[in-house]
Amino acid sequence: METVKILDKEFEIFIPEQKIYEAIDKLAEQITNDYKDSDPIFLGILNGSFLFAAELLKRIKFPCTISFLKLASYQGTASTGKVKRLIGINEDLKDKTVIVLEDIIDTGITMTQIKKQLVGYEPKKIVVTTLFFKPEAYQTNDHIDYIGVDIPNNFIVGFGLDYDGYGRNLTNVYKLKK
Ligand code: 5GP
Ligand code: MG
Repeated sequence: METVKILDKEFEIFIPEQKIYEAIDKLAEQITNDYKDSDPIFLGILNGSFLFAAELLKRIKFPCTISFLKLASYQGTASTGKVKRLIGINEDLKDKTVIVLEDIIDTGITMTQIKKQLVGYEPKKIVVTTLFFKPEAYQTNDHIDYIGVDIPNNFIVGFGLDYDGYGRNLTNVYKLKK
């Protein structure tokens, strides 16, 4: 079993990159079917979504724009429950179809906050897309439009996701070794 050590913790392979690419292929296909004629703006949430956004957008062939927003909400391996402000909106989102790209939705608190802040810009529609989703941890009733991979309630790193800043560059996804 392939393992990696990041700082003080051991992680073991969980989702190989081929599976991630298959999930992204599917997401791109669904989004293309549903939004190819709506000139959407994709909004990647930094830092975690940078690889997901890049891989997804490589598969989107219709006219669209992309931008990135930033917030930070996670330290170490436990959600702090605190959500910072969304920064970096330079585009006019009024009457636009906004497709939000997140790396992972855990409790859902972050996405609820993001949506609340985006509503203020009066977009036509907010579409929520996440690469990974933890159904057992989800605490809200908010609808998620597109989900790449459902995962159990494990802490994961790789493919953009970090452990205290490290591991984002790993191409596979790893989970904390018990
Ligand atoms: P939520 O507000 O949905 O509980 O958490 C969302 C944020 O927590 C994600 O954007 C991500 O930054 C972080 N997060 C949640 N689960 C994990 C995980 O398993 N690994 C890592 N690295 N970050 C996570
Ligand atoms: Mg994130």
